[in-house]
Amino acid sequence: MERPLTILISGAGIAGPAVAYWLVRRGHRPVLVERTPELRVGGHAVDIRGTALEVMERMGLDAAVRDARTQILTLSAVRPDGVRTYDVALRPMRQARGDREIEIMRDDLVRILYRAVSDDVEVVFGDSVRALTQDDARVVVEFERGATREVDLVVGADGHHSTIRELTMGSARRLTHHLGAYLSIYTVDNLLELRDRAVLYNEPGRAAAMFTVRGNQRAKVVLLFRSEPLDIDFGDPAAQYDLLRQRFAGMGWQTARLIESARDAYDFYFDEMSQVRLPRWSTGRVALIGDAAFGPSPMSGQGTSLALIGAFLLAHHLAAVPDPASAFGLWEKGFRPNVELNQALATDGISTLLPASRLGIFARNQSMRVLPLLARFGRGFGGRIERVSRAVTLPR
Ligand SMILES: Cc1cc2nc3c(=O)[nH]c(=O)nc-3n(C[C@H](O)[C@H](O)[C@H](O)COP(=O)(O)OP(=O)(O)OC[C@H]3O[C@@H](n4cnc5c(N)ncnc54)[C@H](O)[C@@H]3O)c2cc1C
Repeated sequence: MERPLTILISGAGIAGPAVAYWLVRRGHRPVLVERTPELRVGGHAVDIRGTALEVMERMGLDAAVRDARTQILTLSAVRPDGVRTYDVALRPMRQARGDREIEIMRDDLVRILYRAVSDDVEVVFGDSVRALTQDDARVVVEFERGATREVDLVVGADGHHSTIRELTMGSARRLTHHLGAYLSIYTVDNLLELRDRAVLYNEPGRAAAMFTVRGNQRAKVVLLFRSEPLDIDFGDPAAQYDLLRQRFAGMGWQTARLIESARDAYDFYFDEMSQVRLPRWSTGRVALIGDAAFGPSPMSGQGTSLALIGAFLLAHHLAAVPDPASAFGLWEKGFRPNVELNQALATDGISTLLPASRLGIFARNQSMRVLPLLARFGRGFGGRIERVSRAVTLPR
């Protein structure tokens, strides 16, 4: 490194704090800007596996994430009247994967990563980049609220609907690939009085689920439905809530009650299942990372791991190569093949969680029964994901 660089990072989710962590360790001065007034929590459990777990170890955060791992013991499918049709014991599957995979609530991981950087990094909440102009030496960044800054580099870690991507590469519709479904997740009281259990109810093209968190005191609701791309304002939760009510009208089990409970959820999350596929991940002094650059969709189960590995490798290349544009290019060249392998996992996820017909639901339920066996022998989706998640070797 010739001199410390000032690097503006947009987004304090997973990728943003992770990249900030490694940039500080290499002597740079990152500044994190997060649009929401405080950390944006919410979301389902996310997985850290393979090489991403090694990244957490190198950050010294592996013990913290192991302590916070989720504790669901059983996955059950139910009929419309709530009677359970089968239970899958998850503990043996976890044991089969051993220490190679950690499932943690996204909220907990966001907090752990933030704590790891908050003493060393300037963090600005409640602001967003409005405009960017760059030349050979710097980037001039204008904000919605704060004063204009001149920085050496900008990293867009602002998620699936990235503002930095929009400003540098244009319309999201052109750069995202719809996978045919929408997802909503939010936290509610443990209305169904579940104990360390996830419960899943399917009708063709729709799924409603609930699982416990925080020692069974609270629960998360997950709703999924198949759909062609819809014209939705992702900044308008009221419109998203109305859409859920329409799409889940008449659905059996406790679905109506679960949807009603979304009104009071502090962390209501709604998004499309789509993948970000960009022709390139950087433009001059501005790079994108995490979901903003290569979001594989929650269906791949690999969004978080890719963000963590990508952050480590990006900082490594910036330290190794003096010219930032070349460093970004080398980072992408080395990491893109692994990202594409991970993105290819997503299509299997949709057919498993959201069968399109009654026959599909029946077949899926039969296959769930053999999951523990497949996990034991490293086969099935679990085996595939594990192989892909270990395919990158971290430089020393
Ligand atoms: C609320 C929420 C719930 C999620 N739930 C799941 C889930 O259940 N399962 C799953 O697999 N994945 C989920 N994801 C996506 C998952 O977090 C990512 O796939 C992955 O961890 C990569 O993280 P990321 O940092 O790239 O993106 P994200 O985790 O999405 O973080 C992006 C951050 O950027 C912020 N941001 C957005 N726009 C701006 C802006 N203009 N200026 C500044 N900051 C901005 C956001 O508020 C957020 O904090 C969720 C994401 C969010 C935001």
